[in-house]
Amino acid sequence: MELELQPLNLPSDNPRPFVIAGPCSAESEEQVMATATQLAKKGCHMFRGGVWKPRTKPGGFEGHGEKALPWMQRVKAETGMLTAIEVATPGHVELALKYGIDILWIGARTTANPFAVQALADSLRGVDTMVLVKNPVNPDLELWIGALERINSAGIKRLGAIHRGFSSYEKKIYRNLPMWQIPIELHRRIPALPIACDPSHIGGRRDLIAPLCQQAMDLGMDGLIVESHCNPDAAWSDANQQVTPDILDYILSILIIRDQVVSTENIVALRKQIDEIDDSIIDLLAKRMRISREIGQYKKEHGMTIVQTSRYGEILDKRGAQGSLMGIGAECIKHIFESIHEESVRQQVEVMK
Ligand code: PEP
Ligand code: MN
Repeated sequence: MELELQPLNLPSDNPRPFVIAGPCSAESEEQVMATATQLAKKGCHMFRGGVWKPRTKPGGFEGHGEKALPWMQRVKAETGMLTAIEVATPGHVELALKYGIDILWIGARTTANPFAVQALADSLRGVDTMVLVKNPVNPDLELWIGALERINSAGIKRLGAIHRGFSSYEKKIYRNLPMWQIPIELHRRIPALPIACDPSHIGGRRDLIAPLCQQAMDLGMDGLIVESHCNPDAAWSDANQQVTPDILDYILSILIIRDQVVSTENIVALRKQIDEIDDSIIDLLAKRMRISREIGQYKKEHGMTIVQTSRYGEILDKRGAQGSLMGIGAECIKHIFESIHEESVRQQVEVMK
């Protein structure tokens, strides 16, 4: 279905990015007010604070709930910033509206559950508020779009998406893998939908916030939602990834916002080069497959098996290392050669038949 969208109309000094900042959790009235005051002084217009916190295991700080909502109201009254909280149940929505929260976001764990999203959508029917939908924890673009459709069908037109990365069993540099191709594809599918990046939950580490913000801008994203705390080391949740309002201000000040409408002439010329290179790659692959079939013929005549494991391992390792030397990720090269090898095997099987 096609989404019916209206512009978010957010307060911002610049067209891009809009910035929502504030602590992972609203911990106390003092912490909320101190952080909000500092952020407002730095020119921030939108304040986030977690009031209900989805925790992986019981026993952690699960948020103050309704008790924290008057603190958010105070932020709005005293700094003029719009306020944003996560909602996961119709009960949360009702309270958020009662306390005049301006922006509601649906967390990654909730987006992954269509029943929960539908319940939220039903509770939002007839309400004019702004809703941001985080990607589901698993890399499933259709599930993300499905959640956006459910909320939009309830009449929410000021709608946006938040890219916060995808969880994986193996933890690497990032807390949540960015898999940028997914938000890029979301943009291609729904060009009018604003997308913000959440570098805090992608990175999970303070030093990754700046590069992730830059990458989000380079990919043309519209906004940023960043966790900022007046005393990050003492944060009750997500301490490692929160930055002070000062640091956030510095990170934003060094962001390079590249013009989205670059002179298309250059791009056309560059794309032509890419087309030519792709043609050569396909030519070379066809040549490689021909040789592979000849080898298949040889193996057949000499009663050899198709897959020679040691040779395969050697190819993957050598090509991976070679790719690294040339500035291409070894993993990427390995994937490419795995696919090539699979096709080679298929072709040799044909020859052997
Ligand atoms: C959060 O924003 O603090 C949060 C819990 O995020 P996510 O739903 O992306 O994990
Ligand atoms: Mn958090």
